[in-house]
Amino acid sequence: MRAVVFERFGEPAEVREVADPEPSEHGVVVRVEATGLCRSDWHGWVGHDPDITLPHVPGHELAGVVEAVGTRVSGWRPGDRVTVPFVCACGSCAACAAGDQQVCERQAQPGFTHWGSFAQYVALEHADVNLVAMPDELSFGTAAALGCRFATAFRAVVAQGRVAAGEWVAVHGCGGVGLSAVMIAAASGARVVAVDVSPQALDLARKFGAAASVDASRVEDTAAAVRELTGGGAHLSLDALGSPVTCVASVNGLRRRGRHVQVGLLPSSTGSTPVPMARVIGLELEVLGSHGMAAHAYPPMLELVRAGVLRPDLLVTSAIPLDTAPIALAAMGTAPGAGVTVIEPWR
Ligand SMILES: [Zn+2]
Ligand SMILES: [Zn+2]
Repeated sequence: MRAVVFERFGEPAEVREVADPEPSEHGVVVRVEATGLCRSDWHGWVGHDPDITLPHVPGHELAGVVEAVGTRVSGWRPGDRVTVPFVCACGSCAACAAGDQQVCERQAQPGFTHWGSFAQYVALEHADVNLVAMPDELSFGTAAALGCRFATAFRAVVAQGRVAAGEWVAVHGCGGVGLSAVMIAAASGARVVAVDVSPQALDLARKFGAAASVDASRVEDTAAAVRELTGGGAHLSLDALGSPVTCVASVNGLRRRGRHVQVGLLPSSTGSTPVPMARVIGLELEVLGSHGMAAHAYPPMLELVRAGVLRPDLLVTSAIPLDTAPIALAAMGTAPGAGVTVIEPWR
């Protein structure tokens, strides 16, 4: 099969022929129809992810068709249209037994712990635990954005953030996950303040339902701007980028008893993040993490997508072939752009 491979961190990846994957006993091989390009792929490529061993194939936001199934898979057969969370759980540890597959103790992540989906085929483990059936009306390109950004944002806003109608929600960082969070919070009846350094990202955020925005390239104290716009601070605030600056701004923009959800990954390369804990105790804030979403939690989200309440299709702004994926991967570091790019390996 053809795949995007890199031999050294930070050096150009290339498209080449590699061996086709085989399914493990509990696993499947999926023919990749679409796979999202995410900043996490860029972090992996430059060497920020200790799980990656070289040579490596990135890609963790995928949708496709089951090609081959392992001997002990019971729920799936060739031809099934599927997607998968970026956290693939083991199905048998204590966290999985409690229904918390998104924090599985023995999780695999395609494109990080093993070869991913910037390829014609990808092998996935524990298919009965991790695969999600795609409704027929959902396109592969849209579904590719669900497994990482949209599902992650859904859990962060709805489950961890406990959003309620009428609340103010601040979203710091309006890339793929942030724009998804804006859309989900607005659809939940919240009033959203979008914060980003990019005017194009803020334009998209307003299109997806943000009531107000803060241009962080012009406003020095974004937390103060959020407090002013919201009459004292957001009820719920997300750091959807993952940086010490946006994390602190998110906590500082909350009102009394507000909830901060850290959803953007903070790679170890950025060092540890100082959180203003004096404000956390003084205002009785909650500080929460959110890490993907388990496959079993997808159906309510897919129902809202099917009903047109949530429109992840609007997030997908471009589709490219495998051949240009190496250049697009490298560009994620400096010019991530607004919206989501999907790679279609069949092109
Ligand atoms: Zn991702
Ligand atoms: Zn597990």
